[in-house]
Amino acid sequence: MRVSEINSFIVNYKNNQYNYSPYNTPVRRFGTVSFGQRYPVIQTYSQFRKFGIKMGAHCLYCNNILTFDNSMINSWKNQKLFQAPIKVFTSELKPYSKSLHNTEETIFNIISNISKKSPSARLSTVIKILSVQSNKKLLNEQIPVFKQLAEAARELPPEYQKQIYGLLNKNRARLLRIPNIEEFSAKDFKYKIKKLSLSMENNKAYKDIKHLSELLTIPDLKLTESDITPEVLERIRRTIAEADRNPNYVLSKKAKKSRNILKSTIVNKIKEAAASVNRTDIKKLCEDAEKRINGIPVAGKFSNKAFCYDLNAILENFDNKELKKKLFDIAAQLPTSEGSIHAFIIKHADASSDTIGYNLFEPSAITIEHMQPSSLNGPDLLRNWAFACKRCNNKRQSEDMNEFFKMFKQSNAVKYWNQIIDWCNKGYFSFEDTTEMLKIFKRQCSSIKINSNKKLQYLPGINV
Ligand SMILES: [Zn+2]
Repeated sequence: MRVSEINSFIVNYKNNQYNYSPYNTPVRRFGTVSFGQRYPVIQTYSQFRKFGIKMGAHCLYCNNILTFDNSMINSWKNQKLFQAPIKVFTSELKPYSKSLHNTEETIFNIISNISKKSPSARLSTVIKILSVQSNKKLLNEQIPVFKQLAEAARELPPEYQKQIYGLLNKNRARLLRIPNIEEFSAKDFKYKIKKLSLSMENNKAYKDIKHLSELLTIPDLKLTESDITPEVLERIRRTIAEADRNPNYVLSKKAKKSRNILKSTIVNKIKEAAASVNRTDIKKLCEDAEKRINGIPVAGKFSNKAFCYDLNAILENFDNKELKKKLFDIAAQLPTSEGSIHAFIIKHADASSDTIGYNLFEPSAITIEHMQPSSLNGPDLLRNWAFACKRCNNKRQSEDMNEFFKMFKQSNAVKYWNQIIDWCNKGYFSFEDTTEMLKIFKRQCSSIKINSNKKLQYLPGINV
């Protein structure tokens, strides 16, 4: 009985290989099929991602086609494709550009056009030049939103009004690049360093930058009263000694006494590490941080995310929901680097070619979405996995899927499941796994009806 089952499976498996797949790739490629183990052939994240890329899977939410994963982006980066002349960059990566989200695809096409005239220019230079025009266009969109916010804030009680106007003034100065005294935020600095170093190679400079920036958020560096503990001083000394390749590195007496000098010392070491690998963007960030630590005015850079975060923090306990919503709705009109090519360009005006290349591709990389979020006990099994782009996956986190899907066309889900059902009918997924996948989806997203009953076929021999 067992033998005949396996035989019939093998026959179908071969059919499957030659008759159905437009890619002429044996199913075996995605996993090892051995006797006694028929399905699932896809058991690991990597097998699932490779399958999705090979077969042209779409994002469950935005429906973008998924043609590359993070490891491919890293290999492009390691091959120095992002630093290469734009002629090489655009011609090598053209096949993947169709799967970029709209904003990134438009920018890719702009760069592609420029490469016809200036083939040897680099990504960072092109973005820098484009930023002059984009700056004006972006300001034309941002300033009216600020005016609306200032107008709406007049309805707020005085204590809130004062804070909102403070926030608006600080950010208006940032928009217009007017130097302003701003407090140094270790958390914000660390976040930005983390983002920028994503596009770095995993070398000594990368590790030094990572370890050094972690020092800045040690709670002891925040307190202003008591002395800094010897343990903390020794940890900082050791980390700097490591970055400095000098085990006998000594912290100056002044640094031991003053938190600001200590912070400056750390930031300065990060700057040196960044300079050693020509990361001018990280160097610039450090220079601004040193000024902030020492109370020197800085022409800060406007960040939509930071602005909304601060707005949220101010209004967190404000109980007039209607007015709060009004303010957030106005703020939501501010262009983002996700939805506006000008905002993307301005965000990357001082960025390295590696960061620009990485950020163009990363949001469109294939990822594995756990339909029932892992944090809500979603099983880590094929039946709970779906294909999603990184942007959608990051955005949803563990949000209710019915709510999250309101941002997208419901037909995207229908298209997605038609593709999965098709693959099941061709023998790539087991009947059991596919029905379980659909069950989990229907439980997570009851608002969208997927009519799978008629289409999903039980194929004895192929599916279990
Ligand atoms: Zn998506």
